[in-house]
Amino acid sequence: MLEVVTKGFRNARLKLQGKSEITEKNIDEALRDIRISLLEADVELHVVKAFLEHVKQKAIGEIIQTKAYAKDKKLKIGPGEYFIKLCHDELISLMGEGERELAFAKKGPTTIMIVGLNGSGKTTTSGKLAKLLRDQKQMRPMLIAADIYRPAAVDQLRTLGQRINVPVFHREGMQPPDLIEEGLLHAKATGKNLVIIDTAGRLTVNEELMQELDEIKSRIKPDNILLVVDAMIGQDAVKTAAEFDRRLDITGVVLTKMDGDARGGAALSVRAVTGKRVMFVGMGESMDKLEEFRADGIATRILGLGDVVGLVQDFEKVVDQEKAEEDALKMLKGDFNLYQFLDQIKAIQKMGALKDTMEKLPFFHEMVPEGQQIDDKVLLNIEAMINSMTHKERLNPEIIDDSRAARIARGSGKKVTEVKDLLVRFQTMKDLMVQMGKKPSLLSRIPGFKEYLNLAKARGEDISDIIPEEPRQRTAYGMPRLTAKQKQKRRKKGKAARKARKQAKKKKKK
Ligand code: GDP
Repeated sequence: MLEVVTKGFRNARLKLQGKSEITEKNIDEALRDIRISLLEADVELHVVKAFLEHVKQKAIGEIIQTKAYAKDKKLKIGPGEYFIKLCHDELISLMGEGERELAFAKKGPTTIMIVGLNGSGKTTTSGKLAKLLRDQKQMRPMLIAADIYRPAAVDQLRTLGQRINVPVFHREGMQPPDLIEEGLLHAKATGKNLVIIDTAGRLTVNEELMQELDEIKSRIKPDNILLVVDAMIGQDAVKTAAEFDRRLDITGVVLTKMDGDARGGAALSVRAVTGKRVMFVGMGESMDKLEEFRADGIATRILGLGDVVGLVQDFEKVVDQEKAEEDALKMLKGDFNLYQFLDQIKAIQKMGALKDTMEKLPFFHEMVPEGQQIDDKVLLNIEAMINSMTHKERLNPEIIDDSRAARIARGSGKKVTEVKDLLVRFQTMKDLMVQMGKKPSLLSRIPGFKEYLNLAKARGEDISDIIPEEPRQRTAYGMPRLTAKQKQKRRKKGKAARKARKQAKKKKKK
């Protein structure tokens, strides 16, 4: 969804790569790419201007400071990296991090009123939010169906409620404000501590319907009012948000359909225009496709560095941390077999759609050719082939010869060439891992990795965990192999000894 913006920032970074310092001229050149991409992504014009101005001022004003900072910390940060860090900070402040969270009632059920235009995704979001808060915060939710104008709306919410196992309250023939009050009493009586109210869609120009919202607000005093807007409508989403906010003083915004080809403009402009931030994003139609909006994650993604934090969080949900570290160590030592490979594939599968996961990986855009499809079927195929192997074969894939490959192919319903291809790819991956383990500096050859590390350095993070110290290797005879520095020392020592011997001989002759 953010490809357009990402492209602009990537081009800007490339323009500054290799430059020895930031000057007004090269900053202007870099900013030009960013401007074009922001406008292309439908970011509000004033927001674009202000953003570029802030980055420029900071970039030019802080060169000296960068150097001092760099010296102080014994860090060398190139202007490209520093510029990216500035953009990163500015993007975060643009989208607003850590401001206004959902308010939870101290007494009685917490209430969240969902408002917005018709078809923006209110009903779907109501269901998703109930599920999210129940699963993540162990709340006991109830939904109130208060859209009495669209007959199918109540049934739609009831169906969703059944699917996620959350009760839905509705009373035929009642006006929304009364219905909601009754619903709240019911929630209290049945021990619920979260009530999400799905209201009817309306335009802000429809005075009668807007007054209904005013009345609901003043009667039930909801803890939160969330405005749902469809990201696909671009700048209109921002206008809608501003209008609803003026009238209702909303808590925050839920941007839906961010999985579609929305260009991200709304996500970047809502906060600057309305002062209210995006709190959640809808990433699909199913009930588990609601994510908390984290400005930091989006900023890192926009900058082409991948949503590293998000990826780590996804990963932590499904992987046992200690086991993952153990596996990684094994991999780097070359002690890696098809069992571990299968475990990893399963972990990736659990992380959700492969495409979503891959998009969060750093450098994704640089590694995968544009337009290339990665789908979950690939993983299922690999799993089927590994499942058809014997225990011995999984531990030592090198023993798989033609006849074994043919058997595996038959067992898994795949072609022999597919089995062989899997083995080749497995071996390549293994070799690569071993090389990385031997030579951590190879990590920095991965496109984008260096930039990521520099950003981490600039943020003052400790990166020694990411780049391990060069391990001592052993030769075939079990002797430790010397590092370049040690070799140099030994050569010097040898030279000095030879010189001393020569001099001693000369003395003797005399
Ligand atoms: P409402 O009229 O505001 O209650 O909107 P609905 O909840 O009925 O949603 C309208 C349509 O948008 C439905 O077809 C939903 O499945 C779809 N929808 C809602 N949220 C998302 C989302 O995050 N992604 C996608 N792709 N579709 C969504």
